Amino acid sequence: MGVLDQLAFQFVVPPVSRRPLLSPARLDVVGRHWGLRFARYFKKPFRIRFTDNSSTMISARVRRGVVELRLHHMFIKAQDEILVALMDYLLDRKKNDRRLDGFIERNQDQVRHRRPAALGNSQGSRFDLIAIRDALSRVYFAVPVEVPVVWGASRRRRRRRRRRRSIRLGSYCYRDHVIRIHPALDQDFVPAYVVAGVVYHEMLHHALGARQKDGRRSMHTREFREQEARFVHYQKAEAWEHDNLGRLLSGPRT
Ligand SMILES: [Zn+2]
Repeated sequence: MGVLDQLAFQFVVPPVSRRPLLSPARLDVVGRHWGLRFARYFKKPFRIRFTDNSSTMISARVRRGVVELRLHHMFIKAQDEILVALMDYLLDRKKNDRRLDGFIERNQDQVRHRRPAALGNSQGSRFDLIAIRDALSRVYFAVPVEVPVVWGASRRRRRRRRRRRSIRLGSYCYRDHVIRIHPALDQDFVPAYVVAGVVYHEMLHHALGARQKDGRRSMHTREFREQEARFVHYQKAEAWEHDNLGRLLSGPRT
C-alpha cells in the first residue's frame, strides 16, 4: 500500500464539466497535494472536491464518518492560515469566521457569476459567443476566462450619433464584468475569426483590468497591445473589419 492510500483523505476528480478548471490529471495532482496540506490540520477522515460554484463556496456534510467537503477552486491556492480557519469552521469552533469571509472576498474575481436575467443572449443566430470565448480561453489564457459574453450594443453606443462612420463592435463593462458584442456581427457574411478577434479584445480587458497611471485610467496599454497581437488572425481580422465596415453598418441589425 502506498503512502497516499494510507491517508485519511480522498480526493475526487470532478466529472468533466462544461469548462474544466484544470485537466483531470493536473487536478488530481493539485487535489492530492491540497489534501496532504489540509490533513496536517484536519484529523478526521475527509474527502475533497473542488467546484466552480457561483454561490456556495464551502459545503460540508458527514457521511458514514467521512467529512465530504466541497470547496470553490479558489481554495486550491489558500495559505495555511486559511486552512486552519477552514478546520476551525468545520469543527464548529468558530462561526462566521472573518478569515474565511475575507479570503472569499479577496478571491471574488475567481467566482463565476451567473448571468443576470436582464442580460442578452450568448447564442446568436449564427455564433455562440460562449463557445468562442471558451475556445479563446483555452488557447490564449492561462486560467479559464469565465466572463459573460452576450449579444448587444454597448450602453455608450446607444446614444444617437449624427453620423455613423464607425461602429463599436465590442465592449467590456468594468463595473458589471460583462462583454457585449454588437449584433451586427451575428450575420452570415461575417467570418468567425472576426467575431473571435472582437471577443478576444474584450476578454483581454477583463483579464488585464484597467490600470491607473498618473490618475488616468489606461486600458490599451502596451502590454494590452502585445497580448492582442498574439491572436492568430489579428491582422486578417483587422483588415476584414476595415474592408467591411460599410456592410456592417448597413446590415439589417445595426
Ligand atoms: Zn478596447
